[in-house]
Amino acid sequence: MPEPKMNLIDGAWITGETTPNINPSDISDVIGHYARASADQAEDAIAAAKAAFPSWSRSGPLDRHKVLRAAADEILARKDELGRLLAREEGKTLAEGIGETVRAAQIFDFFAGEALRLSGEALPSIRPGVGVEITREPVGVVGIITPWNFPIAIPAWKIAPALCYGNTVVFKPADLVPGCAWALVDILHRAGLPDGVLNLVMGRGSVVGQAIVDSPDVAALTFTGSVPTGAALAAKSAELMRKVQLEMGGKNPFVVLADADLDVAVDCVVQGAFFSTGQRCTASSRIIVEEAVQDAFLARMTERMSALRVGDALAPDTQIGPVVDENQLNQNEGYIEIGKAEGARLVTGGERLKRETDGFFQAPALFADCTNQMRIAREEIFGPVAAVIPVKDYDEALAVANDTEFGLSAGIATTSLKHATHFKRNAEAGMVMVNLPTAGVDFHVPFGGRKASSLGSREQGRYAAEFFTTVKTAYTLA
Ligand code: ADP
Repeated sequence: MPEPKMNLIDGAWITGETTPNINPSDISDVIGHYARASADQAEDAIAAAKAAFPSWSRSGPLDRHKVLRAAADEILARKDELGRLLAREEGKTLAEGIGETVRAAQIFDFFAGEALRLSGEALPSIRPGVGVEITREPVGVVGIITPWNFPIAIPAWKIAPALCYGNTVVFKPADLVPGCAWALVDILHRAGLPDGVLNLVMGRGSVVGQAIVDSPDVAALTFTGSVPTGAALAAKSAELMRKVQLEMGGKNPFVVLADADLDVAVDCVVQGAFFSTGQRCTASSRIIVEEAVQDAFLARMTERMSALRVGDALAPDTQIGPVVDENQLNQNEGYIEIGKAEGARLVTGGERLKRETDGFFQAPALFADCTNQMRIAREEIFGPVAAVIPVKDYDEALAVANDTEFGLSAGIATTSLKHATHFKRNAEAGMVMVNLPTAGVDFHVPFGGRKASSLGSREQGRYAAEFFTTVKTAYTLA
């Protein structure tokens, strides 16, 4: 058996209790064994990050650039191997796994550049003889808690800006996907980060995550995950007067107007609702369709969905990999029953699929005749399940799209400039897509939502500086 992969605390690989990492396409395939940190080890990691902060926060931009640049280069050079590991441990297809790995490299590349562009402002005071400087300083120890659905991209888009702006990090990945997290930390460690600047504490949310959340030495906490966990983190962070950034659920609408190009609409829905097995917080789960085109839309969707190939994430012809684990699959099946009981019509899919290997395969499911009040239209399912809601016109479509507790991404298929423009202006979401799927975003522009989807400032691109730095205004009498 290969050596278990350990946690990185203060520059040393530290062992402990271990857990197997299982392939959801084939549960007999054990990817490796990974350490689970204790609460004490999480506290050691926080102490190490705190001790490393004074020196790292004063390091030169070139030092930070070099580490981030080297990480970008190595991730890109190893994209096939890391993409395969990602597909094997999380279950998205090999193409999606490689794509996500390339994305991680691009994010490190972007922030390597940003490290060289750190800047401030110098301006005259309103008082003669006084100068004012506005600068950004690192915040301190940043706690990073990530989910299982983007095992390398989400850690990348939190770790890269944290290090770029001079913070030190305690990183806790999701328990289901330690493989990519470990590989990423190993790359950054070998790229030359001083001891304690980046610490990895894999393990349970209730143990390791909670220790990070409870620590007054964690100056800023960035989290992507579920609403209940996010809410608890926010409450504790308010008590500790700590900066917090949360990315949580979505119940993203995709509107199909009667004037839409139906090929575009169907492409957007198939891709947005079912690719990555629907396990994206930006997935389209409410498909709001003008009645005039509903029959034609459903006919084309059924045809497209029947041709989708669900199977082993690593098989070259697979388009949709397995659900991440048994719990999630049970939950998805539960929602299929809830939808039926609520009176929605299951057009296609929803059933468990048998494949050569024992994995968590499910046929993508489409419900029709839904109302926006049904649980399947209100609660985040986080699986390959979408609900079609008929509406009489654009105004009703917009009202239904906005009638949700979430506000991450919203999409529309239309050939009308008037409706596209109005929707961009009035959709209550952080991200709006016109003739594009709700999922699938660029790495150099802000990512985030409104209402229960997000709390705090935006992630990614130059907007990331808002969370990972604190602003100082200095006055000098010359
Ligand atoms: P998901 O449904 O994506 O698993 P969670 O919110 O449960 O959503 O998990 C997201 C991340 O938060 C994971 O890394 C998980 O281990 C962590 N986590 C779960 N519970 C807690 C907690 N009480 N404190 C801190 N982190 C937690």
